[in-house]
Amino acid sequence: MLKSQNPAPDTETRLPSNLFYLSGLRRPLVDRAEGIYIWTQDGRRFIDGSSGPMVANIGHSNRNVLDAMKRQMDRATFAYRLHFENEPAEDLARELAGKLPEGLDRIFFVSGGSEATESCIKLARQWALATGQASRWKVITRFPSYHGGTLGALAVTGDDALAETFAPMMQVMPTVPAPVAWRDRDNFSMEQRGIRYADMVEEKILAEGPESVLAFIMEPVGGAATAALVAPDSYYPRIREICDRYGILLIHDEVMSGAGRTGKFLGGDHFDCKPDIVALSKGLGSGYAPLGALAAPLRLVQPLLASGGFQHGHTYAGNPLACAAGLAVLGEMDRLDLIANAAEMGDILMAELKGLAKRFPFIADVRGKGLLLGAEMVADPDTLRPIAPAKKATQRLLDLAYERGLIIYGRKVKGGVDGDNFMVAPPMIVTREQISEIVAIIGDSLQVLAGELDL
Ligand code: PLP
Repeated sequence: MLKSQNPAPDTETRLPSNLFYLSGLRRPLVDRAEGIYIWTQDGRRFIDGSSGPMVANIGHSNRNVLDAMKRQMDRATFAYRLHFENEPAEDLARELAGKLPEGLDRIFFVSGGSEATESCIKLARQWALATGQASRWKVITRFPSYHGGTLGALAVTGDDALAETFAPMMQVMPTVPAPVAWRDRDNFSMEQRGIRYADMVEEKILAEGPESVLAFIMEPVGGAATAALVAPDSYYPRIREICDRYGILLIHDEVMSGAGRTGKFLGGDHFDCKPDIVALSKGLGSGYAPLGALAAPLRLVQPLLASGGFQHGHTYAGNPLACAAGLAVLGEMDRLDLIANAAEMGDILMAELKGLAKRFPFIADVRGKGLLLGAEMVADPDTLRPIAPAKKATQRLLDLAYERGLIIYGRKVKGGVDGDNFMVAPPMIVTREQISEIVAIIGDSLQVLAGELDL
């Protein structure tokens, strides 16, 4: 068994601080980060096995990105968008458009994922108004899902805990079940199930009234809420067909799955389905700067520009420093061929995780694309009976890995159909040797967890 080098976060003292934290727990102070590693001020080393929350796609402290940012810092860090254009934003928009599906070439920059998804929704609504479709405002979303924490993005997020707290303050949008086809115990093939899940979107559109529906939003490769859920291939073109049938815009939230993480530039590039609008963030700035973007075709942007412009914006949006970082990140992705590495290392990691699932039968499913991988844990793999919530299996596994110097990711969604899950998503520079190290720690942590769960 690997030696435990870090105390579990639960046991850490709550030091007095002016900051307050997501969990209320104070974590160790970060000292420095390089490649796939992060060191704390008390001398511990962690493998960033989830790239934070799937952000540090190209790895930490990339010299070329830092140099590009320093060069930009010496020129201008901020010049307000309404007063000046800036070259890094222009260049990044051009580079990005070249990597996106054809026609998705009008880019609007923001500073994060929630801003990106909200911007997509606001663009869609203003396009509907500008084209005489004022009755369209509902955005159908999947349950469970995560599209951001601000109230607009939360309104399209399928998570009961979040909805219960903030529902009175927002217009909660209609939901359809996420395509958890692997869980279904019926006689249909996966492809038939994919069609069935897509058809639920059509049923929802008809129930809501097609003339009231503006858009459908989904993560083509799921993120935190579903632990990298991927629908059967048949789902995606059927969704496109249904959206076209009712004149509904398809928004792909690629905040987590985009920027190369899945082994293609977009998660949606794996499937036969072209979105109308795409939201990006996380890996786009790769942790070097807060950066997000929406991409849309001219046909959507033109009508609203012709009728007074996009009524939306954020002060820091498109600032030269963040855009210089994003431009350098894309440059490094190309120079180091990181998308190909994500595909190759992703296959290896997926095979290793499937090996762990054989060793630990309470892992009922391993899924994902490239280096966006997830696994689901249940008490009984035949019936999919969940592990008793009191056992807090997800958090316990995360803590066990953390104690052993590995960060992995996991989140249990209230009201969701998922069991306990965890996600593994190291930076796209990860090597075979580092994957072995990551898998050894996960295996060791699962071994301890298995003993504790006593299933
Ligand atoms: N959309 C998806 C798919 C996400 O995973 C996230 C964050 O985890 C967001 C949106 C929100 O991004 P941010 O936390 O940068 O606002």
